[in-house]
Amino acid sequence: MKAVAISRSVFRWCRNPTFTTRRRLLHHTSTIRMASSNGNGIAVQDDKSALSPAAYDFRSDTVTTPTPSMLQSILSIATHGDDVFQEDTTTNALESFITSLTGKPAAVFVLSGTMGNQLAIRSHLAQPPHSIVVDRRSHIYNYEAGGAAVLSQAQLLPVTPANGMYLTLDEVREAVIDSDDIHYAPTRLICLENSLNGVVMPLEEIRRIAAYARGKGIKTHLDGARLWNVVAAGGGELKEIVSHFDSVSLCFSKGLGAPMGSVVIGEEAFMKRVRHFRKMVGGGTRQVGIATAPARTAVEEVFLGGKLTRTHELARRLAAVWEALGGKLKVPCDTNMVWLNLESVGVDMDDIPVEAKRAGLKWDWERIVVHHQICDEAIDKLEDVLRKLVEKARARGSVLPQDKKRKARYSRPDEDDE
Ligand SMILES: *Cc1c(COP(=O)(O)O)cnc(C)c1O
Repeated sequence: MKAVAISRSVFRWCRNPTFTTRRRLLHHTSTIRMASSNGNGIAVQDDKSALSPAAYDFRSDTVTTPTPSMLQSILSIATHGDDVFQEDTTTNALESFITSLTGKPAAVFVLSGTMGNQLAIRSHLAQPPHSIVVDRRSHIYNYEAGGAAVLSQAQLLPVTPANGMYLTLDEVREAVIDSDDIHYAPTRLICLENSLNGVVMPLEEIRRIAAYARGKGIKTHLDGARLWNVVAAGGGELKEIVSHFDSVSLCFSKGLGAPMGSVVIGEEAFMKRVRHFRKMVGGGTRQVGIATAPARTAVEEVFLGGKLTRTHELARRLAAVWEALGGKLKVPCDTNMVWLNLESVGVDMDDIPVEAKRAGLKWDWERIVVHHQICDEAIDKLEDVLRKLVEKARARGSVLPQDKKRKARYSRPDEDDE
């Protein structure tokens, strides 16, 4: 009897796509409920909408989980073509959707932001010696496992912006090696990042640097993992910003919440090189529509759907609470990140995970990231945590013992954190 029931349901599962979809979505929703109620106690906002397990997690916007509509998009894919043959309709459609959205002639889906940046760098450069000017705080310089040195044999020239927010043309010009003197590695590429630490780079500065680079025959790449946030924050039109660069990488899995993937955009000939190097590093994939379908849903739902704006508003609210408590920010809160200057009120970084956990939140250092699945209740709780942290600091006289003056996570021993 049981076996019959099972085989009948399996049969229906296979035969009826709508049934399958509904069943799987139901399953997904209940999984979310179980996962989050186990983790945090409070999970279900109302009967209809379950919160993501990421609803109370402020560590990064990478922790978002695919929404039911993203999962639905995977189930609704009509074709399962091979993307190495460029025969996957869903993937081709995503790439042309991105070209129409950005105005760049060509786009290539890649598995991660790091892969996008590294392939772009590799595709711009020919033969060493060569150097790349980057922001000292950039992802390419700090968090890509030294990839540019290995994959492109490039010397990176890191520049620390004097204004603490973004590089200026004067600083870039100062760093560029524009010489055929045999002692040097001439600069062939300038990489900018926008947003960087959540801060929007002014369009005017981008224009100036891009014009200078063009005049010198130096290529430009923008690490736009969070460029969506820049556009949502009024930092320029997407088409205009990307028009200043030879290539741009944009991330689907950060603020937009897709399960994986990034995209590189640029000219056709350049993108052919990107596709070639993507294959070389093992990034050519087959029925990748299961990743590119939810990526497209993420762009439509979260970016075009205007959901990033709320994350920026909530970040500003948290920043305002911190400032009202007497705290300072390390950088302005332009988008979805709040960078707390803990020393300004003597908060001990070690207290953060403790107090956050007590409140049912995940958050562990000076950076707060708000993503689209953060719920209102999590914001209220985090405001309370900020108050508690400052109270604790005040009780200690608002000063940290010398051994508690720590470097930020990821920072190198020789780095002056301020
Ligand atoms: C996260 C991030 C990347 C890399 O993305 P992964 O998908 O994690 O490899 C690149 N640049 C910036 C600015 C990022 O924040």
